Amino acid sequence: MFPHDKSTGFGPVNTSRSPHARLKTLEFRNVLLNEGFWTKKININRKTSLQFGFEMLEKAGNFDNLRIAAGSINGTYRGYVFQDSDIYKWLEAIAWEIGKEPDKELSSMADQAISLIAAAQRPDGYINSYVQTRKVYQPWIDLDNGHELYCAGHLFQAAVAYERAMGDDRLLNIACGFANHICSIFGPNKRHGTCGHPEVEMALVELFRVTGESSYLELAKFFIDQRGQNEMKGHRSYGPEYHQDHVQVRQVVEAAGHAVRQLYLASGVTDLFLETGEQALLDAMLRLSKDIIETKLYITGGLGARFDGEAFGDPYELPTDQCYCETCAAIASLMWNWRMLLASGEGRYADQMERALYNNILASPALDGQHYFYINPLMLREAKYLRLSTDLPPSEVFIPDQRPEWHDCACCPPNVMRLFSSLSHYLATHDAKGIQIHQFASADIECDLKGTSVKLNVATEYPWQGHIKLRIVESGNSPWILSIRIPEWSQNLILSVNGNRARDLRREKGYLVLERDWRAEDVIEIELEMEAKFIASNPRIDSTRGCLAIQRGPIVYCLEDGDQETKGQLLDVEIDKNQPLITSWDSDLLDGVMVVEASGQFIDSESWHGHLYQSATFPIPVNPRTTRLVAVPYYAWGNRKIGGMRIWIPKKTV
Ligand SMILES: [Zn+2]
Repeated sequence: MFPHDKSTGFGPVNTSRSPHARLKTLEFRNVLLNEGFWTKKININRKTSLQFGFEMLEKAGNFDNLRIAAGSINGTYRGYVFQDSDIYKWLEAIAWEIGKEPDKELSSMADQAISLIAAAQRPDGYINSYVQTRKVYQPWIDLDNGHELYCAGHLFQAAVAYERAMGDDRLLNIACGFANHICSIFGPNKRHGTCGHPEVEMALVELFRVTGESSYLELAKFFIDQRGQNEMKGHRSYGPEYHQDHVQVRQVVEAAGHAVRQLYLASGVTDLFLETGEQALLDAMLRLSKDIIETKLYITGGLGARFDGEAFGDPYELPTDQCYCETCAAIASLMWNWRMLLASGEGRYADQMERALYNNILASPALDGQHYFYINPLMLREAKYLRLSTDLPPSEVFIPDQRPEWHDCACCPPNVMRLFSSLSHYLATHDAKGIQIHQFASADIECDLKGTSVKLNVATEYPWQGHIKLRIVESGNSPWILSIRIPEWSQNLILSVNGNRARDLRREKGYLVLERDWRAEDVIEIELEMEAKFIASNPRIDSTRGCLAIQRGPIVYCLEDGDQETKGQLLDVEIDKNQPLITSWDSDLLDGVMVVEASGQFIDSESWHGHLYQSATFPIPVNPRTTRLVAVPYYAWGNRKIGGMRIWIPKKTV
């Protein structure tokens, strides 16, 4: 029905024909993950989380909202205005999974949802169950906060997934019907305005990549150009910057406002650059990235320092306890950095993806795949109060035993689901000269290079071990370049090719560059420096001044109160950076983790005799007691019981 390109087979982003992409995405089916760290997580996502998501969407009223919109049941709409988007993200996750391997139960659940969406869609193409279930049908009356285009964007992305993963165009028909409807309403000589929550921009670009329909790309540009009118109402005390409407996209100099909105917008802008090559767009994104990386990024890859407005704070405003760090913001960061990587070929963006993935993002789902953090603090004090989601009723502010099953605003769980189900998409790319490996996982990678097939096998125990073995399975007919990212945390590495250690390493843009006339069965081995390290923070970050964190490979560690020798004293610990960090593998702990032990001491805060403040003239006795500090990966915290936790630990002072 549609003039499809050769998009079927690709993953969430297809830059194979994007004229300004330095790197081209590989076909989704050509990167297959083998047994290893991520396969375990992805299997839990596939076998548990997706079924669980179906039940939660039913329980929360998401499906009923569509049934009411379709007229098949009577009732009242439940939930936030953007409930439909939860279904679309969950459907996207299912598409990637059953595209990899069919599953009758998953297909059956998804088919029910697709039928509901089809039934709810109006003859003119419009679909949004919130608007359709109002007493009076009034679309597009609240662009600032109505989320209609946001929901449309998630529908488009799910449709793209169905088309690419399986060549199934049921959702694509629905999506294009809606996209055509939107095109008929919005545009340069039509209605002006854009959505208060960016998302539709990148989705429209992807819809263009699937269908070849240029009006979708033009509409994405139109919506991007509309931003910066300084007219959106904002949220509570936040004005237009909440929606990134305070500045035109090409004039952006800093990250501001609602973090997820900012990062979804950045993804769309970068996608537009990949298609149009407009330098002003890329320049703006480079400024935005610099501002984030230099002043607004948590060690966990978390973004959004403030609860208020779910927003970026000022430069260096990075509180560890009352931070926001929404799971969706870290996922959005990964999505945006992927596009920046595709645009630039620079490994620093893959570094940012890795930081977000192994820490902030992976901390969201519980190990059981049925509970999710929405907000990801870096510290929990007395385990008494933990804000779990935005704008929740007071009862949910108090600390639970574990992550909540679902959230009133359930944007994060299905976002994790769709990312995990499509994770192999982000491992590698190619260009005219060769293949680039960005993330490390055991996998089989296939690519058509210079007209011949090249196949690689990657074997690694990453992220627990730094040894990565790449074997050429099919070499192609002519020399090509294998580029392997050198992680920012491991500048010292050992490389050997066919058992011979290489001395002169060629490094470009954060990659180890190996150009050869490869032969089948050639073996490349890399040993990354993987010992646990102390990490310091910029002294301008007040909340972490005088503290150290522990990182091993890409994984940031934390202390959980329950693991320490003295319980309930996590506020009183100090760490000794002059003593070694000792790592040990514990296969029984938290589904298998590398534990890091440090030397430290407890400080006797009782010596303060109930004072918060005392004269600093005289030294105050602290009676230090030596102790071992036990650190576990931050991503696994709160899986035994949610209790005191901290990533940043004060340095030993006496
Ligand atoms: Zn979220």
